[in-house]
Amino acid sequence: MKVLFSSIPQWYPASPYLACALLAGQLGRAGFDADTYDFNIAFFNDILTCEQVGAALEKAKRFLKTPFEIDADAEPQMKAKLQETAEVRKNVIEAYLAADNGRAARVIAETGNAVKVMKTKELFYDPEQYYRAKDVLADALDILSLPWAPARIRLDNFIANPVFTYDFPDVDFQCRNAAVNMFLPYFEKALAGKDLSAYDLIGLSVTDLSQIVPGLTLARLLKQKTKAKICLGGNYIFKIAPDIKKIPKIFTDYCDFLLIGDGERTVVELAEYLDGRRSVETVHSLIYADADGVIRETETAPLLDLDAVAYPDFDGYDFGAYLTPETVIPVQLGKGCYWGKCTFCDFYTGQQKFDMKHVTRAVDEVEYLSKKYGSPYFNFVDEAVPPAFYDKFAAEVLRRGLKIFFYSFARLEKAFKPEVLQNLYRAGARFFMWGYEAASERVMGLMNKGIDLSRREQILSDAVDAGLWNLCTFLLCYPTETPEELQATIDVIYNDRLVDTCTPSNFALKKNAILKNDVSAAAITDFQANGELHISYKYHSTVTTMEEIKRKRNSFERKFLQDTADRLFAHTFTESDALLLYLAHYGREFVKTYRLKYKREL
Ligand code: SF4
Repeated sequence: MKVLFSSIPQWYPASPYLACALLAGQLGRAGFDADTYDFNIAFFNDILTCEQVGAALEKAKRFLKTPFEIDADAEPQMKAKLQETAEVRKNVIEAYLAADNGRAARVIAETGNAVKVMKTKELFYDPEQYYRAKDVLADALDILSLPWAPARIRLDNFIANPVFTYDFPDVDFQCRNAAVNMFLPYFEKALAGKDLSAYDLIGLSVTDLSQIVPGLTLARLLKQKTKAKICLGGNYIFKIAPDIKKIPKIFTDYCDFLLIGDGERTVVELAEYLDGRRSVETVHSLIYADADGVIRETETAPLLDLDAVAYPDFDGYDFGAYLTPETVIPVQLGKGCYWGKCTFCDFYTGQQKFDMKHVTRAVDEVEYLSKKYGSPYFNFVDEAVPPAFYDKFAAEVLRRGLKIFFYSFARLEKAFKPEVLQNLYRAGARFFMWGYEAASERVMGLMNKGIDLSRREQILSDAVDAGLWNLCTFLLCYPTETPEELQATIDVIYNDRLVDTCTPSNFALKKNAILKNDVSAAAITDFQANGELHISYKYHSTVTTMEEIKRKRNSFERKFLQDTADRLFAHTFTESDALLLYLAHYGREFVKTYRLKYKREL
């Protein structure tokens, strides 16, 4: 009985992904043989070469002479979408070539070195080289995307071809058609070189929308090419479970099991079932098709005892493959969010109620992983770590004299008093990702953020005084937000003393968000699914449109990026591992005051 857990592109390729290591640890402790494979980092390493980028440019040019053939057997609707894709692709490629002016040749020549900069300590920690390399890789991925336009792969996102929807027939069509799916030929080639015959179960973790098309493409190929049972799990599958479970083809063509919610207990029970030690009905939190094709759902797993969960097992990972020279280890200190009431949020939706590991158990885990993998750097991947927990955590780290550096999400709670922040800094905290969201009290009320607004600036100021870096997330254009209210938020973003990094995002109406239950306060009149496999709704608001939100956000972002082009980490989210490494390496003052000489082309 052998199990493989694989991660899926696209995910920011800076460090290993926790879910697979966590489940491998659980299975290992239960006596099963479990391997892990990071298909995401393999994908980026395979495509980010001078040869591949050059080949993509040539392929794009060939497309202008010989577009792909429209599948004669395709449904009329899909034929029309292929036709539209071909037209859009032609326009995208022509526009790129017209504006190129020799840039593509430079990017192709520099791609290999850019990857080397990301992986080599002395090059990575030179901000001039780091930012240049980052821009080269972004340009390289633009070229790599051309033959698949209008789909687009980036380090921080995969934007699927917008000609197709997220309804299952559209995703299914893309999973079978290499003309509109960059991952299909990639996975076919990669799998041809792999012997997966030893595996009885392959688990794929889907965490984000960016992984739906690649994840289902991979799942389908694995189901065709291996004898292993295929299990799809992860937070994203949990969120779309009510829709995806109604699609019979998912169970015939893509997977054998959907794992709904936290997998720590289920993967062990599933392995026991496949090993003949229990019946499938007794495996918790599973959806599958029985012998007659009837979809069955098993009982939801009882809440986990977090202290009893095994440590993650990163043994199979090649840490040198990631686009940072030092490994930032992901660790979960608890599960869920202790507030869990923000109207727009679907982060915390899961089976497990909010719970934290005991502080000593959490510090044991961090100490163990740090020693075992030789890295002092940690990303605590929790939705929000409570200040009281962090206070004790810092004390325990200091008591043991551990030399670690870490970051996580946190809420701007008044319990983050100056002495708590100072102790956290001394214990190794280097930045927190604070959910600032919006300046307006009225809008914050609608969001039900549940923090004392009069204390926000003081906490940020105290954090700076303690030596911490403030990464603030902002939610722009909440429905009914007025231009003045938006401007007030933008003024906060530009407050350089309190906000070191800004991470803006657009409001989206999520299927699992509380807001969906009563949209009237947000002036949303009606909404409809964006597709069965999408986690957001399209909506109409009497006050603003989705297009307007996008336009406002883009115009703010363009200006902010230009205004801060010479600063380090002024605007980012996905680069949080690199930010931790820079802060730990140089300290706050250097990162804050450094000004790039390299001129970025934005
Ligand atoms: S936005 Fe953050 S604080 Fe609010 S419910 Fe979601 S995870 Fe919790």
